[in-house]
Amino acid sequence: MIRPTVARIDLSALKSNYRSIVEHLARESRQRPPGVIAVVKANAYGHGAGQVARALEDAGADLLACADIEEGAALRAAGVGAEILVFGALSVSDLDGLFDCRLTPTISTPGAARAVQSAAAKYKKRLHYHLKIDTGMNRLGFRFDNVKRTLPELLASANLELDAIYTHFATADDPESPLFEEQRTRFEQALAEIERLGSPERLGSPERLALPAIERSPRVAPNRGPVARGFQPSGSPYIHAANSAALLRDRRVWYDGVRPGLLLYGLVPPPLASTIPLTPIMTLGSRIVAVKGVRPGEGVGYGVKFRAEQPTRIAIIPAGYADGLDLRLAGRGAVLIRGRRAPIVGSVCMDMLAADVTGLDVSPGDEVVIIGAQGADRIDVREMAAQIGTIPYEILSRIGSRIERLYE
Ligand SMILES: *Cc1c(COP(=O)(O)O)cnc(C)c1O
Repeated sequence: MIRPTVARIDLSALKSNYRSIVEHLARESRQRPPGVIAVVKANAYGHGAGQVARALEDAGADLLACADIEEGAALRAAGVGAEILVFGALSVSDLDGLFDCRLTPTISTPGAARAVQSAAAKYKKRLHYHLKIDTGMNRLGFRFDNVKRTLPELLASANLELDAIYTHFATADDPESPLFEEQRTRFEQALAEIERLGSPERLGSPERLALPAIERSPRVAPNRGPVARGFQPSGSPYIHAANSAALLRDRRVWYDGVRPGLLLYGLVPPPLASTIPLTPIMTLGSRIVAVKGVRPGEGVGYGVKFRAEQPTRIAIIPAGYADGLDLRLAGRGAVLIRGRRAPIVGSVCMDMLAADVTGLDVSPGDEVVIIGAQGADRIDVREMAAQIGTIPYEILSRIGSRIERLYE
């Protein structure tokens, strides 16, 4: 049994997007190109984490990132073998999952540092981690201007091994914002400071040796060849900072690795543009379940927000806000039917919506495209986001769990 409203996920387009990004980085890099940390948090932005992650692995990704330990466990359950980085804070998490599922934590607070150290000691493991520096987002991370005070304890933790250092940009998608450049400077300042703090192994000893230069000889970053990370006997941490927008915007923040999410799914974060060949990988489609005539003066849907001025034909489509379609699409958005745009009218209901198909020869069973192409036209997620004043991320990640994902 399958409902008429389905999301088709094109895994070959996903792989080709991944490869396009890798090729872009290789082409545009002056030195060694950065590795790619493929971001599959939030059920791979609504596309289905297990399938997406496995396809990315297939395409060569050897480091994936998710939001929390539970998402990491779901990826392992789906058969993902690649390294998995957990972005989120760990202070109120059950840390056993880090060990049971071989996850790489981000340590972003002193409290998490202590909790993860004692869990690792309990398991008698040396756990590799990424250190997060807060350079201005004021969300997670050790403050860039305070690392001298806050980091020595973490760096000296007997059961923790620093694999990588990263930060996250608050305004990478805003070309006007000076904060981006400020964050970059602060990050480099913090990296220099951390280098001065000395190598983790030597912190306790009288001759504090400096960490090997951070940018010059990084620990093997993602996708760097056959040597698995973590099996390097020594080496300095590798550095990453760029989400999709930062990757597009400034080569200087590519460092040793980049962390694209949205680009993998074939979308460029608005308002940016890109020449990287990318294809949106999700098509959301449905079928008309009823067609009816509405007389002039009559309304449609809850609150009768749409009133027919002329004899009007309405098609009912079985997808609503419970499927993640925003209420604000009514009166703003459209769907594609028979290659034409049919405006969404009335109200988006829990399980259905109405489209004005006046003048179109339609009947129940006809295909409807909510996101994607039909004929010569296409409704893309960026356009839909702009119509209702949100961002593509929200639309994708809210596509409901009731909607079946079909992989092709
Ligand atoms: C979500 C996320 C990303 C990816 O962001 P995109 O804008 O989708 O590329 C990268 N880094 C961190 C820390 C994130 O949380």
